[in-house]
Amino acid sequence: MSDVDGLDDLLARAAERPRALARPELAALLSVKDEAGIQSLFDAAYALKVKCCGKRVAMRGIVEAGNVCAKDCYYCGIRRSNENLQRYQLSADEIVRLAELDAKQDYASLVIQSGEIESEAHTRFIEDVLRRIAPLDLGVTLSLGEQTEETYRRWKEAGAARYLLRIETSNPELYATLHPAGHSWERRVECLRALHRCGYQVGTGVMCGLPGQTYDDLARDIEFFAEMDVDMIGMGPYIPHPDTPLGTNNQPLTTNHQSLTLGLKMIAVTRLHLHDVNIAAATALQALAPDGRERGIRAGANVIMPNITDTKYRRSYQLYAGKPCLDENAGLCKGCLERRLAAIGETVDYGHRGDSLHFRKRTRGSASLPEGGVG
Ligand code: SAM
Repeated sequence: MSDVDGLDDLLARAAERPRALARPELAALLSVKDEAGIQSLFDAAYALKVKCCGKRVAMRGIVEAGNVCAKDCYYCGIRRSNENLQRYQLSADEIVRLAELDAKQDYASLVIQSGEIESEAHTRFIEDVLRRIAPLDLGVTLSLGEQTEETYRRWKEAGAARYLLRIETSNPELYATLHPAGHSWERRVECLRALHRCGYQVGTGVMCGLPGQTYDDLARDIEFFAEMDVDMIGMGPYIPHPDTPLGTNNQPLTTNHQSLTLGLKMIAVTRLHLHDVNIAAATALQALAPDGRERGIRAGANVIMPNITDTKYRRSYQLYAGKPCLDENAGLCKGCLERRLAAIGETVDYGHRGDSLHFRKRTRGSASLPEGGVG
């Protein structure tokens, strides 16, 4: 018997068809507290992950291409006003070399992420990188923040297939407490719409455990993912960074264990509500527990993004305190991940791009699952 009334019924209804639950029901699932109830939630979400994606995990090597950022988000370690870090920008040659390493690891997908820069020179720089790595035939995700639709279109034409832009929270009032004036929640939503129009596989996500955030906010976030009809979700626990206004002024409201559990519950409820999207087990989960990402997979995620950036740059890309693998090169990360996934009965889906099944369905109108899940 769980502390949430009718838990088994909610889980069964959610697993039966996508988008079956109302917001109060999503919030009820997120608020489950007893161990047995939490385990039932994770088990139901994992069963659905296996049904949609098989017992396989898609890998996307992530390149942290630079930490120069025009934004000043109150929670982020690479915010413009943080002077306690060395700013860097990888050259095109360095990014191409990492893309080649990613292809050699047989990950078949690559993520290029950086702070936000909006300029013609930067747009052209990324275009050039994309054209140079095109022969590697990788599924390329960009995560380079808010840009004009024209820039998104140019990057798409140069070879990018996916774009990840977290909304951070679907509650505009909460968003306003986390960002200075001039950072617009509405513009972020408009960017997600523009990415759709450009034909990307569109990803968004939120931080969970933010000061002032409620279960209703998080349930609303999951509804937002559905309303925006996104293909990929990248979300994770908020972890304070001491050199930020939010990390300095607010003591953590939760223990690591509570933050991790909330992050895992968000993955599970998102899987149960959306079914066929790609969901990443964020690195922030691993910052809270060494096996955080594997637990993310067991709660319904199907993607892991191992960091392949050279270790000399990693200390300068600390978005939050305690970021893991600062000294571990890409080769070590690969072996370590393989072992960790084998321990939970999962294998790495080498050689496949791991496109979002939701994207395939919405663009081809095909509703049937491929044999064994997403290829
Ligand atoms: N500039 C791009 C953008 O805005 O989408 C990508 C880089 S940004 C640093 C990547 C993500 O890091 C943000 O969307 C945010 O959710 C996450 N992040 C930043 N600070 C964090 C913190 N203290 N705890 C957890 N996640 C954080």
